Amino acid sequence: MLIYNFINFTQKTTIFMNHSESLQSLLETGDIRLDRIAEKVIEQKRIDDDEALYMFEHASVAWLGSLANFVKHRWHGKKVFFNRNFHLEPTNLCVFDCKFCSYSRSFKERPEAWEMTYDEMLNTVKSFKDKNVTEIHIVGGVHPKMNLPFYEKFFRDIKSFWPDLHIKAFTAVEYEYMFRKAKVSYEEGFRRLIDAGLDSIPGGGAEIFHPEIRQKICADKCTAEQWLAIHETAHRLGLHSNATMLYGHIENFFHRVHHMSLLRNLQDQTGGFNCFIPLKFRNQNNEMSHIPETTLIDDVKTYAIARIYFDNIPHIKAYWPMLGRQSAQLLLSFGVDDIDGTIDDTTKIYSMAGSEEQHPAMSTTEIVQLIESSGFEAVERDSLYHEILNYSHQNNEFVS
Ligand code: SF4
Repeated sequence: MLIYNFINFTQKTTIFMNHSESLQSLLETGDIRLDRIAEKVIEQKRIDDDEALYMFEHASVAWLGSLANFVKHRWHGKKVFFNRNFHLEPTNLCVFDCKFCSYSRSFKERPEAWEMTYDEMLNTVKSFKDKNVTEIHIVGGVHPKMNLPFYEKFFRDIKSFWPDLHIKAFTAVEYEYMFRKAKVSYEEGFRRLIDAGLDSIPGGGAEIFHPEIRQKICADKCTAEQWLAIHETAHRLGLHSNATMLYGHIENFFHRVHHMSLLRNLQDQTGGFNCFIPLKFRNQNNEMSHIPETTLIDDVKTYAIARIYFDNIPHIKAYWPMLGRQSAQLLLSFGVDDIDGTIDDTTKIYSMAGSEEQHPAMSTTEIVQLIESSGFEAVERDSLYHEILNYSHQNNEFVS
């Protein structure tokens, strides 16, 4: 309950949104560095990496929530975004061996592995045609047979019967493998997939960029430099993408700030990231199960600091299938303005890792209620954050 009392405090800052002097006095701590950070943020000046680290180490949850709530309000007012989407996970067979992964199965150990046929994949997409969704999100294990020509054909086939379905597909990890095996540059690979129907790319596979940690948790997949180069190439070709950070395992606050710093630097150059998504490490059924999951306090601090730090990424997302819907709802008061989508029980990645959401699916009505009951406006968006419908302007009868 303690954390819910903090929400009252953070929501008080809404009163001061247009009265920055009042907000600044509310945020005065007597700690000169924190006071200076609040002053800079209120004056829309960029905070540096040392200041981000200082917040991780010294700022209270209430202070962070207030400042993050202020920043979130400056970006989006009371709006919280969601979309209507479904996931396609064609296989969990994977050539890589990430220690935190609960989802993948190796090609040697086939129990619990699945590999959809091409027709099964296409029929799954077709089954959503009349379900009023706007986006397909495709990710999965890295499978040698599901290669560049395979997905060029798949995207073309999707677009031939559903031209306006937005295809958001594959992490940089999948692209690095796919393009390497096809012996094409990142640019050529993306040009071919864009021509086939690719619309945007999700943000997975980033994990923690710092080599000290990356070597220990996912040594054999794409490097930080490759992940960043792939997103940079995508952005330069006009694709938008998201960015993630897997936190709460063996990394420390310095590694989190280093990770966010590389993303902020790239965003300064390209402007292509729509959204940053902190992903909480879940510890069931993987090789890091001995590591306890981090606390809710650490979750809210991480999201709030992300909102304060990223002055150039418009959206911070709480991915509810990973966090659970109650934690996602709580984070709306700590800088979050997006909770992803309806999902329709089409992803297993976090249910296999022990998430509270074993069959993640929310109707539009449930998402709207979740957002509105927290005091925000529910806004349905498309995949590129164009507004489709603001539910606060509608009668409930429009909610389906
Ligand atoms: S996290 Fe992705 S790349 Fe790593 S083992 Fe799991 S499915 Fe494969």
